[in-house]
Amino acid sequence: MKTTTKYQNNVFNINSYNDYFNYKNNYKNPDNVTLIKLSNNKKLGKQILVGRHKGKKLYSLTLVEREMGCNKNCFHWETCYGDNMPFAHRFKTNNTIIFTNILTDEINYLRKKHKNGIVIRLHVLGDFIDKYYARYWAGVLACYENVSIYGYTAHNENSDIGKILLEITKKFGFDRFAIRWSNNVNSKLNTANSTDFKPRIIGAKNVKLNSITCLEQVNKVKNCASCGLCWNSKINQINFITH
Ligand code: SF4
Repeated sequence: MKTTTKYQNNVFNINSYNDYFNYKNNYKNPDNVTLIKLSNNKKLGKQILVGRHKGKKLYSLTLVEREMGCNKNCFHWETCYGDNMPFAHRFKTNNTIIFTNILTDEINYLRKKHKNGIVIRLHVLGDFIDKYYARYWAGVLACYENVSIYGYTAHNENSDIGKILLEITKKFGFDRFAIRWSNNVNSKLNTANSTDFKPRIIGAKNVKLNSITCLEQVNKVKNCASCGLCWNSKINQINFITH
């Protein structure tokens, strides 16, 4: 069973502000270096062009796959798409208090820099690390009106972390906290399922019918920034083609 990323050279431990500044100081312009990064990922895009977040910048946070928050029952545990992402910087922490303090500094800087606001994609790799970390994002939404979040989780909605995520969506709405549940057949949730995910209860009444395949994967849009379906609550299920 795999336990971490295969790209260990791209793992950066951020357990203190010292670690953080050491990471930044590896670059020519350390002031411009953040853990929450403007997307370099072709699929994501940098500036949202459609929908209610139009005009906002799209940022993302990447953690270490399988080590940071990932649910061991994740359908893609052995086939995580991080296996095909040799260049992504992955962050790891043993201290979510320090880590989130650093994220707060960055978010505060970014939301002032981008007056139209920002959307943060959680998490390109990894998942919500612990209960404190999950609740932290509610605080971000409460403090900063021009910050919204979208992403996916493989946590179960009945787990401690899952319940916190449900509460955050209930409190702030899918408009601001659009976390989809991966490979999940609960018809009450907004989900994101792999096309090779075969629910055991297929045909049962709680399998959703109103689903759509990721538009970027079928070449209908250039990237997420020009699509926005994932943060549209009316689309119950997005299907992802597994390569
Ligand atoms: S459906 Fe749209 S927003 Fe969702 S992953 Fe695909 S391109 Fe991105």
